[in-house]
Amino acid sequence: MKQATFHGGIHPSYFKEFTSHKKLIQSNPPSQVILPMQQHIGAPCEPIVKKGDVVKLGQKIGEPKGFVSAPIHASVSGKVVAVEPRLHPDGRKVLSVVIESDGLDTLHEDIKPQGNLESLSPEKIRDIVGEAGVVGLGGATFPTKVKLSPPPEKKIDAVILNGAECEPYLTADHRIMVERAEDVVYGLKALLKALDVQKGYIGIEDNKLDAIEAVKKAVGNDANIEIYSLHTKYPQGAEKQLIYAVTGREVPSGGLPMDAGAVVQNVGTAVAIADAIKIGMPLVERVVTVTGSVIKEPQNLLVRLGTPFKEIIDQCGGFAKNPGKLIMGGPMMGMAQFSIEVPVLKGTSGILALDEEEANVPDPTPCIRCGKCVNVCPINLLPLYISAYSLNDAFDKAEEYHALDCIECGSCSFICPSRRPLVPSIRVAKREILAKKRKAK
Ligand code: SF4
Ligand code: SF4
Repeated sequence: MKQATFHGGIHPSYFKEFTSHKKLIQSNPPSQVILPMQQHIGAPCEPIVKKGDVVKLGQKIGEPKGFVSAPIHASVSGKVVAVEPRLHPDGRKVLSVVIESDGLDTLHEDIKPQGNLESLSPEKIRDIVGEAGVVGLGGATFPTKVKLSPPPEKKIDAVILNGAECEPYLTADHRIMVERAEDVVYGLKALLKALDVQKGYIGIEDNKLDAIEAVKKAVGNDANIEIYSLHTKYPQGAEKQLIYAVTGREVPSGGLPMDAGAVVQNVGTAVAIADAIKIGMPLVERVVTVTGSVIKEPQNLLVRLGTPFKEIIDQCGGFAKNPGKLIMGGPMMGMAQFSIEVPVLKGTSGILALDEEEANVPDPTPCIRCGKCVNVCPINLLPLYISAYSLNDAFDKAEEYHALDCIECGSCSFICPSRRPLVPSIRVAKREILAKKRKAK
């Protein structure tokens, strides 16, 4: 087994011990699910059901609009009680289909095994993955079918499964690798076939030894699949860092993984692909790590999409004390939440509740030019300058300093002794630069 890492990065406290040993548990069936038509990067779906319709589990209810989009399916059987804007974890109101469950989980007729992998053509695998609404489950939610359809001039020769799970607190991928290792490998084989690639890699951080062992066993003596033990360091799971660690290739500035001949998929995505082929089940549930010092009984739960956060938190014993901050995802790249009524989405890898002390961010003081933010930036950027230009509305200068290459990993903010608002200000610069580019078109 090979060992690998990348330049820069940080070593935050991991806090994975809350849940890393906890087996996946099926969450209680929700009485109602709220399914926003935007659960992926790209164009939102259009609802194809209306209030009063009766739907079955796995039935398509949202039709993708555009190439970069993925269909959405009913995660329970029951009756559509509303098609209206509802609060989304990104803070907006988004058109959503609300289904009252009948508690029967009546399967839609289309849910059936799709044949064995050997008999499926690459095109058929891409179609199954697309129709099942599979998206990147690491949190990025990029539609998987699109990644499986690179333009012909981009030669892909490496498929990398991302089992790094470098965000503190999160253990969903860890448990998936331990408990569903066979399906992780099956999903990788399906990806290799769909892309006509020989060589597959699985990268796992070396703090997950039981996951490495389980996946190694599932790979057996397949010489086309290599496992990499990755140095435990944040952001080891970022696409560009993972590609560099495993292949030694750099994704060019402004480029995509395919520009380095690679496609990266999360291990949970591989399992969703296995389910779509073996059972014919579209993406209607996912593993969510519910954790943090404020959660009474942290767990790794298998949750139906659309289940309100509140129900999930209640199943974990509720809050032990007042939460200071609620986050969807991990503490480094997750999204702060202002309501526990929002639903679990395809990209909800975790629900994290921190206490008031942990959530407290001290006021920023002036930059002391210590250079720590430069040393940790995995992209080799100069965060202090990009941030300073952004705070002075000098977005053209921020662009010159490659603001658009920032992956928003948060390493610079984490390390900064002056608690400068580095990532938020760089994010503003990126938004302004992109808006200007759009206007110029
Ligand atoms: S500048 Fe961007 S990529 Fe670099 S450390 Fe900060 S957030 Fe990460
Ligand atoms: S880490 Fe903070 S204080 Fe140090 S150079 Fe960067 S912005 Fe300035």
